[in-house]
Amino acid sequence: MEKLKNFINGQFIEPINGQYLDNYEPATGKVYSLIPDSDEKDIELAIQAAEKAFPIWSKMSIEDRSEIMLKIAKGIEDRMDDFVKAESRDNGKPEKLALQVDIPRAVSNFHFFATGILHFASESHAMEGIGVNYTTRKPIGIVGCISPWNLPLYLFTWKIAPALAAGNCVIAKPSEVTPYTAYLLGQVIKESGMPDGVLNIVHGYGHRAGDAIVKHPLVKAISFTGGTKTGEYIAQTAAPMFKKLSLELGGKNPNIIFDDCDFDKMLATTVQSSFANQGQICLCGSRIFVQRGIYEKFKTAFVERVNALKVSFPSDPTAKMGALVSKPHLEKVISYIELAKSEGGKVIAGGKQVHLDAPYNEGYYLQATVIEGLSYACRTNQEEIFGPVVTLTPFDTEEEVLMMANSTKYGLSATLWTNNLQRAHRMANEIDAGIVWINSWLVRDLRTPFGGIKASGVGREGGWDALRFFTEAKNVFIKY
Ligand code: NDP
Repeated sequence: MEKLKNFINGQFIEPINGQYLDNYEPATGKVYSLIPDSDEKDIELAIQAAEKAFPIWSKMSIEDRSEIMLKIAKGIEDRMDDFVKAESRDNGKPEKLALQVDIPRAVSNFHFFATGILHFASESHAMEGIGVNYTTRKPIGIVGCISPWNLPLYLFTWKIAPALAAGNCVIAKPSEVTPYTAYLLGQVIKESGMPDGVLNIVHGYGHRAGDAIVKHPLVKAISFTGGTKTGEYIAQTAAPMFKKLSLELGGKNPNIIFDDCDFDKMLATTVQSSFANQGQICLCGSRIFVQRGIYEKFKTAFVERVNALKVSFPSDPTAKMGALVSKPHLEKVISYIELAKSEGGKVIAGGKQVHLDAPYNEGYYLQATVIEGLSYACRTNQEEIFGPVVTLTPFDTEEEVLMMANSTKYGLSATLWTNNLQRAHRMANEIDAGIVWINSWLVRDLRTPFGGIKASGVGREGGWDALRFFTEAKNVFIKY
């Protein structure tokens, strides 16, 4: 069985304790590789490597840093097929999705920040007749990047790329559930000419390897994407040590459909925004609110489309949905379908596990599921499920739907469908979310601030926000 290794100080090495964890293939439910069960000793080794590398990397010209990062982008692109297959095998997502979204986006992340850093400037504030302020922005030092399993390489690189571009050295931990493409990234880094120790990739459990990163006194900033509960724990641990924190957490996003929308476009996009990546995207719209005038028409058309979504093994080119990421996650999602029923919900599409033929007969497959008849305030409509399950709720007025949309503790993203310009602006202004899409979904411009409010997180990623997060500002005043 293949054993993945940690990537520390430019070398692929075994965990010091010699312990490994099973890595499951969601499509078959079988273990297919082993990953290091790293602990604080491995993190210490990575920190020592990063400490040595920091003066080299942070003092390198930005042109040279940029050049190396562009080589990394190219290195991923050149091995597109390996990355696509590995991502899909590790996560269960259709290969087609990994090819169209995940891996190209990882390439873009490196490309975007490799070139962005060349244009990153700091401010100067003149005080007429008195003097002038100038602000410098220096890399922080060693930073920790911890990412989840749903968009493994995509979210891993979304953190690592700006951290590196800004001149930091990085200790990164991918989710233990989906480690493989991070392992492949180490190989690309090795070939890129990046000095040893600049990027260290340590595998293992969050509560062991991840915790050791968060607690290490030399890690000055933590960029974390994952669940709200984990974010809460990380904030509690890191805050007394005065670390910079960027937390991208859970969501329960509303998708609000007014009866004046372009119905066909809305319908096609709503199928996507509900079930892309088996509904395991933090930006999926899991609460669908439909204005009463088109509720029945929408319900009929939507259920017909949803029933036609083919659930299949990830390498099936006709698969619209693959496997869920793990057995515990599948069980959690099923438990929410049961909860919804007990709360009075009616399953109007899906709701059942899908059993494929061997060798996929033990894979974690679930039908795309639609539930109606629930109160906006029930647990199913308040808690994050993070799977292929959406609820339908009718509404009459803007005020009513705003109240329901804003009723959760989350505030990551929202989608609005309307052709009424004033209403679109009014609603976008009032809705509790860090990101609002109008008549669209998941259109991403990497320059824009990305992140949520309330329990969906603290801080913003993307564009200058990311580069500011990964640098320390210093203001210098000179008297005339
Ligand atoms: P988790 O919070 O379980 O894990 C995220 C990462 O944190 C993993 O690498 C995990 O390790 C690690 N981790 C767990 N415990 C600790 C700890 N005590 N200290 C340090 N690190 C730790 O989230 P999931 O992986 O289950 O991801 C799903 C969640 O991510 C959902 O809530 C989703 O909404 C959210 N998400 C948010 C996004 C956003 O941009 N706001 C984008 C994508 C997802 P391991 O699991 O390997 O043990």
